[in-house]
Amino acid sequence: MIYASLNNNSPSVTFKDAVIRGLAPDKGLYFPKKIPKLSKSFFDNIESLNENEIAYEAIKHYVNFDISKNELKKIISETLSFNFPIIKISEKIYSMELYQGPTLAFKDVGARFMARCLGYFNKKERSNKITVLVATSGDTGGAVADGFLDVDGINVIILYPSKKVSEIQEKQLTTLGKNISALEVNGTFDDCQEMVKKSFLDKDIIKKNKLTSANSINIGRWLPQMFYYFFAYKYLKKTNKPIVISVPSGNFGNICAGLLSKKMGLPIDHFIASTNINDVVPRYLKTNKYCPEPSIQTISNAMDVGNPSNFVRIAKIFDNNFKKIKSSLSGFQFSDNQTKEAIKEIYEKSKFISDPHGAVGYLGLKSYLKINNDKLGLFMGTAHPVKFIDVVEKTLDMKLKLPEKIKTIIKKEKKSTKINNYKELKNYLIE
Ligand SMILES: *Cc1c(COP(=O)(O)O)cnc(C)c1O
Repeated sequence: MIYASLNNNSPSVTFKDAVIRGLAPDKGLYFPKKIPKLSKSFFDNIESLNENEIAYEAIKHYVNFDISKNELKKIISETLSFNFPIIKISEKIYSMELYQGPTLAFKDVGARFMARCLGYFNKKERSNKITVLVATSGDTGGAVADGFLDVDGINVIILYPSKKVSEIQEKQLTTLGKNISALEVNGTFDDCQEMVKKSFLDKDIIKKNKLTSANSINIGRWLPQMFYYFFAYKYLKKTNKPIVISVPSGNFGNICAGLLSKKMGLPIDHFIASTNINDVVPRYLKTNKYCPEPSIQTISNAMDVGNPSNFVRIAKIFDNNFKKIKSSLSGFQFSDNQTKEAIKEIYEKSKFISDPHGAVGYLGLKSYLKINNDKLGLFMGTAHPVKFIDVVEKTLDMKLKLPEKIKTIIKKEKKSTKINNYKELKNYLIE
């Protein structure tokens, strides 16, 4: 398997180099040159395979010779060390909990998979330490910190905006120590992101550090998200109905992995991009005009993205053809008030407690099924409700129980280094 930059101005690379680099030298996202098609018999027999076997079949073509068969199987089984329960909400609506991992965010799967691949490449080559530099608005930092903890040869530096992440999120990224460091930035998430981008272009920094990124632009984090869609199909196949999947979307990495699976032959009938009022993609699907905007803060803040990085990959999957995109993807956007009403409605219907992101996914699915009532739907639950405890407790007028993992981490002591500007980051990285 070969990966080319979507800016068409960099040499093609294998899986290994794409994971180590993160972004191509021309700043384009890496994309597989040819999308493999899986056999009909694999899908016919999927119910007889376990999760690890399914994941292996889904991703092996993308990794091929860069990691041995046995090592890849080991990486997969370590990555998937928790469950992905599917809950029935109503006659035609199911939800899949993607958040049973160590940091209670769906990003755990991508972070764990990427960390193990990178650790493997680094060990094999005994090369210099790799520095993973990542900016977070909350959830990415925790998942990356946990995923990379104790991985040999890799240092992780997380930049987060001071006082703009929740207490749980802050503890998740500042209490692990060892090879994980947290930089508390006096500024916004956009400032953190800007500083990270600048570092990647700074010759003084690159000379001293082998830098890579760990957000969903990295194929090591993006591709394993395919697994959820294969698992969902395995579970819902027996219903014999056309299956539609709604994905609460921000940077559009998760849904893009779903669309890639469909292109590989996975029999999902249709995808729904559900967003908050940061609705660049739903608006594009209505107007055929892609207009990025500055992001607006909402209660589903992991989706407050004004210019989704992975949109170019979605366009590529469908040969940049608007009609083709529309035939597989619909989009809907919802306000914070609608989201809160949905949290209540889901609870009344099923006693299931959804976080705000999942609730947006539920609303998108409901809108689509209203006009396509012969189909069956599933929405992705992307975060555990306790990660957004304030909104959920207030909306449902009840107290949530904290899981043990969270109780332990809240007691730990925060360790961070405060920085105010790029110069301070640069000094930190050079020292
Ligand atoms: C990151 C995140 C999203 C958005 O996922 P993308 O792949 O960026 O579209 C949705 N919900 C939660 C809880 C997240 O953390």
